[in-house]
Amino acid sequence: MESWQELLRKRSLASLDALVAKFGAEHFPDLDRLREAARNFEFRIAPAMVDLIKSPGDPIWRQYVPDLQELEVHDGLVDSLAEDAHSPVPNITHRYPDRALFLVSPVCASYCRFCTRRRKVGDPSKIPMSQLESAFRYLEQHSEIRDVILSGGDPLLLSDRRIEDILKRLRAIPHLEVLRIGSRIPCHLPERITPELCGILKQYHPLYINTHFNHPDELTPAAVKGLGLLADAGICSCSGCSRRASGRTTSTCAIRWRAPSTSAPRSRRGSRSSRRCGAGPPGSRCRTS
Ligand code: SF4
Repeated sequence: MESWQELLRKRSLASLDALVAKFGAEHFPDLDRLREAARNFEFRIAPAMVDLIKSPGDPIWRQYVPDLQELEVHDGLVDSLAEDAHSPVPNITHRYPDRALFLVSPVCASYCRFCTRRRKVGDPSKIPMSQLESAFRYLEQHSEIRDVILSGGDPLLLSDRRIEDILKRLRAIPHLEVLRIGSRIPCHLPERITPELCGILKQYHPLYINTHFNHPDELTPAAVKGLGLLADAGICSCSGCSRRASGRTTSTCAIRWRAPSTSAPRSRRGSRSSRRCGAGPPGSRCRTS
């Protein structure tokens, strides 16, 4: 069986040419301008998302396929959430007193065209892995911080060893009560949710995963299985969503929360892993990576 790394490497669509070859040139009438639009952000569509595209322009396509509108879009290219203005050291954003955002990975399994951090994501020089030490020191020195949100890029695309090193280091900081991981891996690459990974994560409770499922179709059997493994490790998954990204209606959104009523995994804590659980840290918002 292919490992998740092989699956991602061999079966993803990682270039516009591969995308055109897969779906047909007739769907890309202005390819030269589209290449220009795609240039300002990474491109990759993970195998699970490729398999979910039923037809060009559908809600899954809209999330990952470059669009000519990107020639005019500035959101994500500029720091619209003022994260950099609140960054005291590389990889840390400290906007609210009791919580901090910690960027630990520059890469994602699929690159969402709506990403609000596209000015950095996909570029290791802008989310430097070599500068995590100053971030750890900052978190150690600021005892008012009790909640750390690991993000990137996608933290769960790191190796098991790297994830464990980061969690272990954070759990050694006494004032950090809650750890959260922002990740689209349960949706994009559910094969990455292995028993080994869950065995690591469950050692660092309280630990929450903020997922980001945007459409009912994304709750594939593989995704539900991955969420079940997380739930069985006692990890609560909360999901934010982007209606605009996939062009969904409010009723589609409602269906999403009801979708896995017969097949959703059971959590030992009694919450359904793929629903908004309401069990996140007090004052927290479910949001994406
Ligand atoms: S997975 Fe998250 S960080 Fe990565 S491209 Fe999508 S929205 Fe951005």
